[in-house]
Amino acid sequence: MHHVITGGAGFIGSHLAEALVAGGHAVTVLDDFSTGRRANLAALEGRAGVTVIEGSVQDPAVVARACEGAEVVVHLAATVGVKLVIDRPVETLVNNVRGTEVVLEAASRLGARTLIASTSEVYGKLMSGPSSQASLREDDDILIGRTSVRRWGYACSKALDEFLALAHATEHGLPVTAIRFFNTVGPRQLGEYGMVLPRFVEAALAGRPIRVHGDGTQSRCFHHVADSVQSLLAILASPAAHGQVLNLGSDREITMLDLATMVREETGSASAIELEPYEAAFGSGFEDMRRRVPDLGKLRALLGPQPVRDVRSIVRDVVAWQRSRT
Ligand code: NAD
Repeated sequence: MHHVITGGAGFIGSHLAEALVAGGHAVTVLDDFSTGRRANLAALEGRAGVTVIEGSVQDPAVVARACEGAEVVVHLAATVGVKLVIDRPVETLVNNVRGTEVVLEAASRLGARTLIASTSEVYGKLMSGPSSQASLREDDDILIGRTSVRRWGYACSKALDEFLALAHATEHGLPVTAIRFFNTVGPRQLGEYGMVLPRFVEAALAGRPIRVHGDGTQSRCFHHVADSVQSLLAILASPAAHGQVLNLGSDREITMLDLATMVREETGSASAIELEPYEAAFGSGFEDMRRRVPDLGKLRALLGPQPVRDVRSIVRDVVAWQRSRT
């Protein structure tokens, strides 16, 4: 089948493209190479059925050309990464909303099976209380913070993307699924846009201090990109997922201090672990969540058990990849 992947030169997109090509599919990558890299596509160079188009998802003509004859559209292109989102609030909102609007219109015209990338950020401040034990369910109400705090602009842009996708499903019968990714990590993810695990590993390998924001007791759940890709393929093949919003991630928590310690162990680094106030890293008024654990019940009910590897093996993979680059 012919698949279009917007943002296909990015971290998740390039892994998905490789898996699809390995499965015998034709893949068109549409990317503006803003955060994506040609090196991510090295394994696909010269492969039959692979087309790479440099252009923006905000351009309807380019999107229409990329989607010509496509049966499946996977929309991953977005402005993403806490640092980018804080530094470029206009781009974040316009790129994520306008781009999704253009892609969904093209997909609807084709009636293509469609996935759009959403995020755990849409849950906003849910579960921010230290004593809350609940996991985040797709049918929970969301609690996005005030408009003067920039990170909520990213959350809101992705929430709007979900609204649009579901609107296309009901009004145009588009077979679309919105995926709420929870901290997907692995080889090819870069630390420069604020992603925590590559940032820690880069610092440890360079012998620089590993900077942990806040008091380090906040936790997250990390999902290996290879596991995410396996689940994405299963979702694409599942008619029951049409018109649905799905959490995708791991439900195994780790605190940022424990993650930093694990990175130090796995790199053998002597780097100090230093706490850095949120304000110093992101300016005043930054708000962070103590915990963010997905409820994976809906995903498992639709697709059965999904692969979730443990954090230490993920850290090892990321360390090995970072070492291979130097
Ligand atoms: P990434 O930055 O590696 O990938 C995004 C890709 O989109 C890049 O290749 C970039 O060049 C491209 N892009 C950006 N704007 C574009 C435009 N206007 N036109 C064409 N291409 C454009 O990030 P990723 O981690 O692979 O994220 C992929 C998707 O998953 C994003 O939509 C992101 O919001 C979502 N997501 C990722 C995570 C995660 O943990 N990695 C978590 C939640 C949501």
